[in-house]
Amino acid sequence: MRLQKTGDGEVTLTQLEELLNWARRSSLWPMTFGLACCAIEMMGTYAGDYDLDRLGVIPRASPRQADVMIVSGTVTFKMADRIKRLYEQMAEPRYVISMGSCANCGGPYWQHGYHVVKGVDRIIPVDVYVPGCPPRPEALIGGILKLQEKIRQKGRTPSDIPEKPVNKI
Ligand code: SF4
Repeated sequence: MRLQKTGDGEVTLTQLEELLNWARRSSLWPMTFGLACCAIEMMGTYAGDYDLDRLGVIPRASPRQADVMIVSGTVTFKMADRIKRLYEQMAEPRYVISMGSCANCGGPYWQHGYHVVKGVDRIIPVDVYVPGCPPRPEALIGGILKLQEKIRQKGRTPSDIPEKPVNKI
């Protein structure tokens, strides 16, 4: 954010869009939502050792109060419709972090897992991918910082919103 101080009164000038982006990236509220083993690492990241609260990341129990979906775990065909419905219930601007190999591309099930969607980006748009099986909390924190950086650089103007993914499942 570009800040400009003038005089002793410390008047701060900035653009409204930059102020909104600062507020958005400083208060990312993920939906409380986990699918498989990666969710255990996500829960560990929320716990005291890593303390996501200091980044302004506070989990919410309702999609209507959340602006981030962390897809942590295996996306089965059974869950795909539920994930899409929860995503659509979130308010704009909304962001998606795909956590772990399963959510990224099907993980260990990509070849023979007939029940697994080969990447959550086939049903909802993904902003940041976190690799690993499972990713450690440090990796998830890296993904959150990446998302914050993305919001800082570009914001979320209509032209920045990814196109609706083709439903290939
Ligand atoms: S990526 Fe690995 S740890 Fe994460 S849900 Fe899939 S199998 Fe489990």
